[in-house]
Amino acid sequence: MVEFGGIKGSSCPKCNWSDVFAIDACPRCQSPVKEARFSGQGKIVTFTLIRYPPKGFEKEAPYVIAMIDLENGPRVIGRIVEESENLQIGQTVSFLTISNGALEFKVNQ
Ligand SMILES: [Zn+2]
Repeated sequence: MVEFGGIKGSSCPKCNWSDVFAIDACPRCQSPVKEARFSGQGKIVTFTLIRYPPKGFEKEAPYVIAMIDLENGPRVIGRIVEESENLQIGQTVSFLTISNGALEFKVNQ
């Protein structure tokens, strides 16, 4: 999924559904989907600071989970690294990598 500084995924030419995972048929209309390439740039829609993490993530807390609208792609859930105190809705972020199945972003300076 990680390449070219952006995120690879799937999009449906029929109903415009898209997401950041590879899939054969659209979950909304069951049409065949196309491979899509989304920008690594996005904007924070909302976020939360996880202080009491689920089992297995204890060492990583506190960490931020955010809902992000990709510039030319779907709304995704990801982690914001290197920042937990001064985040604001509307801040722009850049995709970094996928770690343990989670999309990781950093705040643009
Ligand atoms: Zn569709």
